[in-house]
Amino acid sequence: MPLDATAVSHSNWRNRLSSMEIPLSVKSNNVALDCLNSLISIGRLTFEQGVKLMHDPSLNSVTSLADMVKRARFNDYVFFNENLHVNSTNVCVLACRFCAFRKGPRHPDAYSLNVDQYLERIRPFSSRIDEVHTVGGLHPTWTVSEYCELFSNLKNEFPHIHIKALTAVEIKHLSKRSSLSISDTLSRLSEAGLNSLPGGGAEILVDSVRDRICMGKESSDEYLEIHGAAHSLGISTNCTMLFGTVESVDDRITHLLRLREQQDTSFGFQCFVPYPFLPDKSRLPEAQLASGQEVIRMISVSRLMLDNIPHIKAYRMNIGDKLASYAINCGADDVDGTVGHEEIMHEAGSKTSLTTSSEQMARMIVSSGATPIKRNSSYSVFEIVNLSEPNRTRILPVIVPEVS
Ligand code: SF4
Repeated sequence: MPLDATAVSHSNWRNRLSSMEIPLSVKSNNVALDCLNSLISIGRLTFEQGVKLMHDPSLNSVTSLADMVKRARFNDYVFFNENLHVNSTNVCVLACRFCAFRKGPRHPDAYSLNVDQYLERIRPFSSRIDEVHTVGGLHPTWTVSEYCELFSNLKNEFPHIHIKALTAVEIKHLSKRSSLSISDTLSRLSEAGLNSLPGGGAEILVDSVRDRICMGKESSDEYLEIHGAAHSLGISTNCTMLFGTVESVDDRITHLLRLREQQDTSFGFQCFVPYPFLPDKSRLPEAQLASGQEVIRMISVSRLMLDNIPHIKAYRMNIGDKLASYAINCGADDVDGTVGHEEIMHEAGSKTSLTTSSEQMARMIVSSGATPIKRNSSYSVFEIVNLSEPNRTRILPVIVPEVS
């Protein structure tokens, strides 16, 4: 039976947090206990508290606190959807140093889908998905018209499919190529069928870092302004963070705070998706690379710092199913979807399965001790997944050892 958001989330999460049993790992750690008290009393952590959480030697204290907050907001529910990724083109005028996906226009593997090719990729999945996620490179000649054609044809053939498409830098590129304002670009796309924006391209919202890893992309301010413009038109968006390249811990916390400030004014971020840099085939030899522990800590700290962004995603396409299963006990409440086809992370080295069914997603969540909930793209309709045959075994999460 479909449920609405009030049935699966708690806006009074701070009250619930105050009456929860406090795990020993939180009780015995001054940093975690101080953060818990701040969240209960004012609902928000400071920059300094964020930095302390990133450096605290007890990862277990940080993840346990994040899990408390996640449970105060969503019980043991974990959300996923049935979606498909279809990239529109891999041709890009930029060459971000971490990107393994883009191709030059004359590269033998370069492609740009026309309407028929785009729909051809969707048709085999159309009866079992309700979202198409489309991002691509910054095509040298495409304007907003090419995307309006893709989206209006998709909507004509599959009106039930939600179109989540185009990152902030793609919106900026299309607005320039089409001589339109950002707002008019978004309006044209929305009239053609665009429903929401993914959050890709945020990388780290500190311009000195952006200059080193993605010179030529939108600035931090532009990323936030484009998302703010979408929110003011009623278009929801996600937001992301690419970590493990050349940024510092302070940069990561600054990034979270910039998103939190934006959300305070425009309220349209649905979900935050932190993911680590995958090094294969990319051109960033000085990248620090994130360990499994660091990925988990980043997800936990995101949950604790982003009090006004409801959903924190363990992006299985990037971090893999095992780490995603662990992350749902460390603050994440969402594991993205069935996905079906994905190029950006797989070009960079991801080995995550692309044939995971809805039932397998649900089993993965149950195996981690949580209750699977299928959601729609706008997090407004939910359905608890009851497995026909319960899991015979519960897979205990991998223990990520403490940092000494
Ligand atoms: S990350 Fe996006 S903008 Fe940068 S090179 Fe890759 S496709 Fe182009």
